[in-house]
Amino acid sequence: MSGYYPDGVTGNEFAIAGADKEWSDEREVACDNDDCLACGEEVTVMLDLASYNSTEWATWTCAKCGKEVEYEGDVDNDPNGEEDYYADMAREERLMDYDY
Ligand SMILES: [Zn+2]
Repeated sequence: MSGYYPDGVTGNEFAIAGADKEWSDEREVACDNDDCLACGEEVTVMLDLASYNSTEWATWTCAKCGKEVEYEGDVDNDPNGEEDYYADMAREERLMDYDY
């Protein structure tokens, strides 16, 4: 129904339609609280993730300062993750070649 949603809103947005997928997984995250002793330090935490299209996100609470931190990342939909790993290695080797 045209005009029901504001311009640019299709009704399929996450906020309206809900997440594609929800699951729990471990992610490396870093607290972004400047006053926190753990600020910038990467920790692996179990997150309750939600995804929409290729974006995944969750909120987690820093164990050091208690701040709620937003996590956002790309969903890993690639079943050939290992190939990516070797592609990354090859890219890094090429980059190293430039140093000489
Ligand atoms: Zn913190």
